Amino acid sequence: MKPAKIESIKLNQIAKKIQEKSDEAIGLFLFNGYRIQVSKYKMDGGSRVRILYNKRRAKGVCIVCETKIKRVNPSSGKLYRLCDTHRNSIDKQRNKNRSLVN
Ligand SMILES: [Zn+2]
Repeated sequence: MKPAKIESIKLNQIAKKIQEKSDEAIGLFLFNGYRIQVSKYKMDGGSRVRILYNKRRAKGVCIVCETKIKRVNPSSGKLYRLCDTHRNSIDKQRNKNRSLVN
């Protein structure tokens, strides 16, 4: 994961979120040439994945590659979880598995 370059205002916001014990503070940042990693101590892999998933969903980006999503799922009215590329590859994989089972 590449660190996100941040300004001092953002650094203050991150510090505040850490004090509030908000998971929104979690991330990888670049400030004044310093790499800052904010993560939960002793967090299990599942929680880490869930936080990353929720973060990407909130930003409206693909949960795999972080590409901005433009298309809305007509049945839910919400943005798709995946970009066109990953939706195609994952759906294809799923269909392939289904045909193996049947
Ligand atoms: Zn993608």
